[in-house]
Amino acid sequence: MTATSPEQPADVVARLRAAFRTGRTQPVAWRTGQLRDLRRMLTEKGDELADALHADLGKSRTEAFRTEIDFTVREIDHTLDHLDDWLRPEPAPVPAHLGTDATAWTRYDPLGVVLVIAPWNYPAQLLLAPVVGALAAGNAVVAKPSELAPATSAALARLIPAYLDTEAVAVVEGGIPETTALLAERFDHIFYTGNGTVGRVVMRAAAEHLTPVTLELGGKSPAFVDATADHDVVADRLVRGKFLNAGQTCVAPDYVLTDPATAAALEPRLADAVKNVYGTDPQTSGAYGRIVNERHFDRLTALLGSGRVVVGGTGDRADKYLAPTVLADVDPASPVMREEIFGPILPIVTVAGLDEAIGFINDRDKPLALYVFSESAEARARIADETSSGGLGYGLPLAHLTVSDLPFGGVGESGMGNYHGRYSLETFSHRKAVLDKPLG
Ligand code: NAD
Repeated sequence: MTATSPEQPADVVARLRAAFRTGRTQPVAWRTGQLRDLRRMLTEKGDELADALHADLGKSRTEAFRTEIDFTVREIDHTLDHLDDWLRPEPAPVPAHLGTDATAWTRYDPLGVVLVIAPWNYPAQLLLAPVVGALAAGNAVVAKPSELAPATSAALARLIPAYLDTEAVAVVEGGIPETTALLAERFDHIFYTGNGTVGRVVMRAAAEHLTPVTLELGGKSPAFVDATADHDVVADRLVRGKFLNAGQTCVAPDYVLTDPATAAALEPRLADAVKNVYGTDPQTSGAYGRIVNERHFDRLTALLGSGRVVVGGTGDRADKYLAPTVLADVDPASPVMREEIFGPILPIVTVAGLDEAIGFINDRDKPLALYVFSESAEARARIADETSSGGLGYGLPLAHLTVSDLPFGGVGESGMGNYHGRYSLETFSHRKAVLDKPLG
């Protein structure tokens, strides 16, 4: 993989640092100007990005706009609407021993030069949404798109310099060698989205410079369903949440956790829901995406033997098509339950009831998201109180991350730190403590 930027990573970082030192990125007018320019890029070149997303992942135009382009526009609009408010210094009460004339407050300072590393599954949104926060906070930004979504990476590398301030924003394309070279540099924050193995590489590199990190990782997000829920609604929402982007979504429901009677009720409904959403042949449905590459296709097809196929189970390697698949009677020790699936396979695992479900979740890594489909107040409350996850969704998968006023991030193996809306400002700023004691 060759970097399209003729500059070496060290030169890029040095150039951006010099620009940051001039104070260029500090004024709120520069920040909002950059956000407006980014918005203009998304509206003027949305089609170009949608084409790239289709080339990389078979995303439909509707899906590309909904989950990547318009999503980022909304994040920009929310930030533009509130930035002045968020940046307002916050007064802090002063203790009596400092006298009544002393005042104290906190203010947000930009961090400096920050690095954003994005994955391939939402290759535009997951690069640009953190960049929105980094710019709003007044930083210079190095953005590293994923080499596994090459069309989107190339489009972003072409468009970003055409719209944003090239003195303070740079795109570095490339794979492991280029990212490794970038990580050798000193940044003031590193924001990484991807898998936990590379997350550890990033954190180790950051430790050399005592650089703080945000790690947006993944994991197996369970969907707990019980007898009290409307199973037609549950099946429809599970199918739409799971099979969006062919299951390659970090917060997709990874598996269904339920009791045997509910599992039996869900099986035909999930099969019907797949037909309702994608038709009898999802391969010909323009709404259904493709697996990112052959390596992931082969990894996923190897998981199909982990249970009884309720629907799907077929694929076409040449087309990187894997049917929306539901597996029943899945043993918790089977391969499909040993790793994050990150593809269109939904296993159903059965437990005796709520106690066992909570134990099952707590025996495993803390998930990025946990979904609860239940009308039982006890089940809803106990799962919130007795489990830990990055986010918790009652009744609807994925949607919590579209609420700009909610922090989005993981806990434990699913990550550290969070972003979106004002949480992005927090992530990409230093909250400086200020005390003012008059000399008079
Ligand atoms: P990926 O392979 O695109 O890797 C992510 C980034 O890391 C890329 O930019 C890549 O160039 C870089 N990278 C890869 N190997 C590296 C190395 N050895 N050293 C330095 N950099 C390296 O994407 P992925 O990791 O396959 O993404 C899928 C994972 O990301 C899943 O686990 C998913 O759950 C998670 N994810 C999390 C979120 C979230 O918001 N929490 C969002 C999307 C995906």
